[in-house]
Amino acid sequence: MDRVAVYPGTFDPITNGHIDIIRRSVPLFDKLIIAVNDNPNPAKPYLFSAEERVEMIKEAVSTSQKIEVESFKGLLVQYAKRRGAKFIIRGLRALSDFEYEFQMYLMNRKLNPELEIIYFMTSQQYSHLSSSIIKEIAKLGGSTINFVPSVVEKKLLKKFGY
Ligand code: ADP
Repeated sequence: MDRVAVYPGTFDPITNGHIDIIRRSVPLFDKLIIAVNDNPNPAKPYLFSAEERVEMIKEAVSTSQKIEVESFKGLLVQYAKRRGAKFIIRGLRALSDFEYEFQMYLMNRKLNPELEIIYFMTSQQYSHLSSSIIKEIAKLGGSTINFVPSVVEKKLLKKFGY
């Protein structure tokens, strides 16, 4: 039976921290679906459209038969079921991630007790990285080249008119 995992996130935009989680999880599964959340979030509007976020990931992640990238709308548990995935991948940075991730974990397990949700601890060199801080740096004209794939750096420069 195929071991299918979904790595969901907003990926607005994808960073080297996300790439690290992808690289480490790929060997553990037959298929890894990188699922770009396209649910509207008025509290935190997206900088990039779902199509742009998917495109950047496709360019940044080396092509492999085992990796798929697409956007999804609606509940994650329903999406995972549709895609035949029994595993969800998430990443954990500081303690501040823990409370939110733990709540989501408990709720998703209530919604589908068969789903196994697996957490990767961040690698130390990426522990400070978040999409939000990258957008802040780019907006203010700083260089993001050490933190994101080059396709993302180019897109950020364009987006903010540098
Ligand atoms: P979401 O809005 O769903 O949290 P993100 O794109 O911000 O989407 O993150 C997707 C997942 O990747 C989350 O589990 C997040 O904790 C994890 N993640 C993000 N950045 C890092 C990083 N630098 N190291 C490890 N995990 C990370």
